[in-house]
Amino acid sequence: MSELWQLTLQEARAGLDARAFSAVELARACFERIAQVEERVKSYVTITESHALQQAEAADKAISEGLGNTLTGIPVQIKDLICTKGIRTTCSSRMLENYVPVYDAAVTEKLFVQGAVLLGKGNMDEFAMGSSCENSAFFPTRNPWDLERVPGGSSGGAAAAVAADEAIVALGSDTGGSIRQPASLCGVVGIKPTYGRVSRYGLIAFASSLDQIGPVGKDVTDCALALNAIAGYDPRDSTSLNLPATDFTAGLTGDIKGMKLGIPSEYFVEGMEPGVRRAVESAIKQLEGLGASVEPVSLPTTEYALACYYIIAPSECSANLARYDGVKFGYSYQDTSDMWEAMERTRQLGFGPEVKRRIMLGAYALSAGYYDAYYLKAQQVRTLIRQDFAQVFEQVDALVTPTSPVVAFPLGDKTADPVQMYLIDVCTLPINIAGLPAISVPCGFSEGLPVGMQLIGPHLSEDRLLNIAYAYEQATEWHKARPGI
Ligand code: GLN
Repeated sequence: MSELWQLTLQEARAGLDARAFSAVELARACFERIAQVEERVKSYVTITESHALQQAEAADKAISEGLGNTLTGIPVQIKDLICTKGIRTTCSSRMLENYVPVYDAAVTEKLFVQGAVLLGKGNMDEFAMGSSCENSAFFPTRNPWDLERVPGGSSGGAAAAVAADEAIVALGSDTGGSIRQPASLCGVVGIKPTYGRVSRYGLIAFASSLDQIGPVGKDVTDCALALNAIAGYDPRDSTSLNLPATDFTAGLTGDIKGMKLGIPSEYFVEGMEPGVRRAVESAIKQLEGLGASVEPVSLPTTEYALACYYIIAPSECSANLARYDGVKFGYSYQDTSDMWEAMERTRQLGFGPEVKRRIMLGAYALSAGYYDAYYLKAQQVRTLIRQDFAQVFEQVDALVTPTSPVVAFPLGDKTADPVQMYLIDVCTLPINIAGLPAISVPCGFSEGLPVGMQLIGPHLSEDRLLNIAYAYEQATEWHKARPGI
């Protein structure tokens, strides 16, 4: 018999509604699972058991009064850069190690109003800067498929927790791939919504023009359900899109006949692992078998996307992280009466090496005399990248690519060379630069490790992407594979 912690969101919902088990039993089961494997996986920075059990009791009451909805009683993990009122929110940084927000992020508020149960806060690369979760100031998260390997990042905690059945569903954030890449490396589903689809209010900023919150789930339907719960207009985020509410499950028909899919040659990069190529190519064949037509397309400015991202993201990061001065909140060096020394020491001791590297890169790119050559140029390239996508989406409905050119790599493998680490995100970064939606779904294995396929669509095409992913999922078994941990 399957255990409660193994359920998908959809199955858990059905069980709760049928009173097959209570929300308290479901939450307890998840904590039992956490007790079994968390010591090895390390996907949580903070576990909120007593808070969760109170929420679960309230959820049971709501369900018994007929007041439940999709999320009522569903145990979730939330990435530790999304504010939770009264619950420590660290960004996996020494700087915010003891930071307890006085307000909930928009998405937290939405989950709680709907009765979700917070299991705890997910580990991540410090301030979401990284691709392996090794930049967490506390500890690295491990990949449940192979504990000696990384889960990807920066939302490594989210992907590892869902893959190891330590959460039914999780929220991550994606600035250049941080939802999709770890989902791919851990064999689960992750969607980065269109920029503006989900409110960033209460998301601790890394690069504000790129950041977007999204779900990581066990299958496509779960991601659609979780996206329903968090999407929507919020006047507190000036970039939030004011659109009528969408039910992202409504389009999950599994019918993709006549759909035109583009295969951009630039995404099948040099250095891509042969096993990844094989898995993605056979997934494309399968999509054809389901009635989609496939054609090669080209996005010529892709080759500049990585350079463009590593100017824009650090520039925005250097501005956003200027607020950590030891005065307003967070870590504060006290052992001096000199203001400048206090500020310097606060930042020296509070930030880890990758965060400092990004701040320096950004401050350099923005400085007088270099601004035009770097930041302005990167913004111009950004326009070209957006135009590439706009043109290609006049020809095709969606694009199919690998999510990551490699499968999960061993811990420590890429920490010595930042550029090697940055290169992991070549297939995901351009999507953030253009503000597009994209989803990663499991599409096979290479040497025993999960491979993810990425589907990219025009702005606001989440329903289409979810349906293509759903059609593929219906025809395959990959999403059912679980690590034997
Ligand atoms: N790995 C990329 C970076 O380090 C993207 C991270 C993210 O999406 N937050 O910036």
